[in-house]
Amino acid sequence: MLEALIQALIIFWNAQAGQLSFVVGSHVWIEDPEVAWLDGEIQESRNGEITVIHESGSKVVSKSANMYPKDPEFPPNGVEDMTRLAYLHEPGVLQNLQVRYAMNEIYTYTGNILIAVNPFKRLPHLSETSTMAKYKGAAFGEQSPHPFAIASSAYSKMINEGKSQSILVSGESGAGKTESTKMLMHYLAFLGGRKATEGRSVEQQVLESNPVLEAFGNAKTVRNNNSSRFGKFVEIQFDQKGRISGAAIRTYLLERSRVCQVSDPERNYHCFYMLCAAPKEDIDKYKLGNPRKFHYLNQSNCIELDGLDDSKEYIATKRAMEVVGISSDEQDAIFRIVAAVLHLGNIEFVKGREEELDSSQPKDEKSYFHLKTAAELFMCDEKSLEDSFCKRVMVTRGDTITKSLDPNAAALSRDALAKIVYSRLFDWIVEKINNTIGQDPDSIHLIGVLDIYGFESFKTNSFEQFCINLTNEKLQQHFNQHVFKMEQEEYTKEEIDWSYIEFVDNQDVLDLIEKKPGGIIALLDEACMFPRSTHETFAEKLYQTFKDNKRFSKPKLSRTDFTVNHYAGDVTYQTDFFLDKNKDYVVPEHAALLSASKCPFVSGLFPPLPEETTKSTKFSSIANQFKQQLQSLLETLNATEPHYIRCVKPNNLLKPGIFENNNVLQQLRCGGVMEAIRISCAGYPTRKNFDEFVQRFTILEPKVLKACPNEVTACKRLLERANLKDYQIGKTKVFLRAGQMAELDACRAEV
Ligand code: ATP
Ligand code: MG
Repeated sequence: MLEALIQALIIFWNAQAGQLSFVVGSHVWIEDPEVAWLDGEIQESRNGEITVIHESGSKVVSKSANMYPKDPEFPPNGVEDMTRLAYLHEPGVLQNLQVRYAMNEIYTYTGNILIAVNPFKRLPHLSETSTMAKYKGAAFGEQSPHPFAIASSAYSKMINEGKSQSILVSGESGAGKTESTKMLMHYLAFLGGRKATEGRSVEQQVLESNPVLEAFGNAKTVRNNNSSRFGKFVEIQFDQKGRISGAAIRTYLLERSRVCQVSDPERNYHCFYMLCAAPKEDIDKYKLGNPRKFHYLNQSNCIELDGLDDSKEYIATKRAMEVVGISSDEQDAIFRIVAAVLHLGNIEFVKGREEELDSSQPKDEKSYFHLKTAAELFMCDEKSLEDSFCKRVMVTRGDTITKSLDPNAAALSRDALAKIVYSRLFDWIVEKINNTIGQDPDSIHLIGVLDIYGFESFKTNSFEQFCINLTNEKLQQHFNQHVFKMEQEEYTKEEIDWSYIEFVDNQDVLDLIEKKPGGIIALLDEACMFPRSTHETFAEKLYQTFKDNKRFSKPKLSRTDFTVNHYAGDVTYQTDFFLDKNKDYVVPEHAALLSASKCPFVSGLFPPLPEETTKSTKFSSIANQFKQQLQSLLETLNATEPHYIRCVKPNNLLKPGIFENNNVLQQLRCGGVMEAIRISCAGYPTRKNFDEFVQRFTILEPKVLKACPNEVTACKRLLERANLKDYQIGKTKVFLRAGQMAELDACRAEV
């Protein structure tokens, strides 16, 4: 009888496809284009058409929409760990995050993964020292979900198991990666710091590296007012006693184009505005003034930022620079270079008076003034600086010919100089910080924290997105493998035998991009080395080579774009600037000019190259360098035990209190959270301790505990009563297949 009822209620469960058929009266989640998942009650099911009534009275009629059962006992405050959801599916996950977000509970676990939803407002109780203290020594899961709990668990594992750890923070721009990273670093400094040291302690220097790097590597973008325009991996080293003894910072791909090109309403790097708001004596020294007068800044109307006082930031940055060991002379040189870059941007070019057809010269008095000032600040020769823009020395068959450049080419050369100087300056700062903090050669263990750009798919995607998405493919593979391993360990611990389902490995996308020879990067490098290549010939080569590759396609209406089917979705790349952007080329005149600077700091940024390399035209590929950096990062990560924080941006308005379902879901998918859930759904995702299980289902046979010798037998008996098959009994828990909890609940409802 009961069996028949169950059969009638739950008609069919297809765990693989996640599809359920329902009968009238059941509560469900139905897919909805606007809010992702709408909950309601099935009113009618006829001819494959299902009518669902929402609480508000609105009606949804659908033939094809996905549906899931709704947990009749969903806790009103949600659950701290998604894996405790009785119904582990997409709408349940979303509902849980949303309910918690509304209560300012921005952190939630999915097993060991921490999901952090950006509150877009200060929540002081989450970062106080008293909060830090609560997590110290607490077992994972004992306190509410928090980055401190992740850091604490990493730290204890490092100490107790003697294994290096890493914490990977990911998410899209503005999701809160850098803020979370800073919390992790503060907490690790709290755990591994020494009390009252004289001078600068290592942990203080580690922490103060953040404002310095942010001043030179962060900018306001449309997605985030303080967007990191570089990736960062901070390795914190610990001594035998678990105290911080050294640190190393590695950075990835600083966005160079921003130095010369800013689109409205974004900003250039923060340091430029800070310097323009510096005390008068500095302004006079660097011949600066109103930022609106500088071309590199005034291409955008956005100069000031709400809530940010650039003059205070200038002072704070200098103070932080001092802590990380940048002397006042070095600070002066750094800001001199920053100012020189601004002056460079104001040099305009017009057609020259020379006989030669395509020549150029600075436009007017104003341009000459900026040229002169830039030369003074760089401490280099003014005429040589001008020539480095307006002329190009060509070496052909042993002869040296000087060719004049037209005004456009001169302006491009000027921008190239600004970009290379700025990026070398950034690298210098990173190296300096590393030298000051110092590496501990005796350190045996480290905790690495990775704050790196998430998957990007915009209207137009160029070389930068290509590199960023390669990073994410690699990290995704690492993540998948880890999630699988963890699941497997849980099953082994509980002595459950279960062989794994296939999971979608993204090795094929990685092969497409980075296989040697023949991958996209290899073909790009080949194109860069061949002087007559254009982006058209490069694209054509890609089309030919990958015409049968499942992960590659050519968009119908384009001659030069290509689409990669990434794990997180399709991205179409515009090849237009791929070749240029891939060439790590320094104009030899620029290098020669600045390495001859009278300022040792400036000349130090351009060490003279060995004779052979200057002569040969051997090009160096940015994509290939980046690929190697990634490889080395992954090697480091593979030697550690990883922990994951997935940051989520709940809305694009950057405002508190707004939770956009579709937006969040998309990020959970891209961040692999849904994939982790899928992986876990393919096994036995629902786990209940024996006592909890008996308590929940004792209604099926109220005297079950009396009738059975122990809880395990009671559980088995209840499961048999409900006619469930294919569950597993572990050592401490009942393991259920996806959907089986819903079946059990249906039985309960019928009693
Ligand atoms: P990007 O990739 O652009 O660097 P991101 O993921 O590093 O983005 P953050 O800079 O960390 O993003 O966060 C963006 C903004 O969101 C912060 O400047 C801050 O205003 C807010 N924010 C993020 N996390 C928190 C938090 N835990 N508490 C309060 N505000 C936060
Ligand atoms: Mg950031």
